[in-house]
Amino acid sequence: MSDNAHLATLFPAICDQKLEAFRQNLHRLRANPPQVLLFEGGLEAERRDMAKYWAATCLCEAQDAPCLACPICERVADESHFDIMAYDGAVAQKEDEANPGFYRAFSAENARNIRVRLRDSPKGRYRVVFFTGIALSRPEAPNALLKILEEPSQTALFVLLVPARGQILPTLVSRSHCLTLPWPDPLAQKLPEGEELAKRFAQFFSNQGGFLSHITGKSALTQSQAQAFFTVCRQSIIRALAGCSETALDQVFAKCSPQLLQNSVVWIQEATSMLSVQVNPARVVEAFAMRLYTSLS
Ligand SMILES: [Zn+2]
Repeated sequence: MSDNAHLATLFPAICDQKLEAFRQNLHRLRANPPQVLLFEGGLEAERRDMAKYWAATCLCEAQDAPCLACPICERVADESHFDIMAYDGAVAQKEDEANPGFYRAFSAENARNIRVRLRDSPKGRYRVVFFTGIALSRPEAPNALLKILEEPSQTALFVLLVPARGQILPTLVSRSHCLTLPWPDPLAQKLPEGEELAKRFAQFFSNQGGFLSHITGKSALTQSQAQAFFTVCRQSIIRALAGCSETALDQVFAKCSPQLLQNSVVWIQEATSMLSVQVNPARVVEAFAMRLYTSLS
């Protein structure tokens, strides 16, 4: 198999040519790896695969690591490597206990366990620890993370995965070597997920229910889905103001008075600024839905 074929098999989200320069940058960092790397930009899947690629770069023992062909590289890719730990602030503790995945819950309890485990030497050269969903986790989690990063260790390498560095504590950012993946095209990537939510939102207004339980339920709403949803709402309001209605959501806004449409624009501004300071996305969307619902009834 060619290198590209290996890459596509092991780390499918990052095999695109546009990420070649980014991967080369990681190869250069290998000789003297920063203790905390922060990946922002890109899509969630790209950040996650790039974190694994970085782990393979540091753990693979080949001269031109990652070789993408040895058992170490393969274990990193299939998430079974002993020296990798992964935590996600968006995973609930209960869900984690019932059905633990590669990314474990980033709870206060797990934060303590991480610090204990990091005191033991890794089996290989390093232990690599991924953190994602930091902006979505409980309020105490960013400080717990800071404590973990502050504990001196010769062998621990940390990777923080965030959509944008502005979403996490500046004290976390300042400890990190920050690398930015190419920003996704917001129209191409985000709108489909926003439109799905917008459809359910419109159903809520025609009393078919299920919307609030959908957004607060098990498949927790992400910040980027909520942002995309509000983008779709804005476009829909513009169409409503122009008197045209194409989608089910347009028909909801078509029922609003001009004053209510203006209020909605203000509420959306408030909602998106709440999202940027890490208020729970489901709560933000729910609050917007209730405001509009109450005004319409
Ligand atoms: Zn290898």
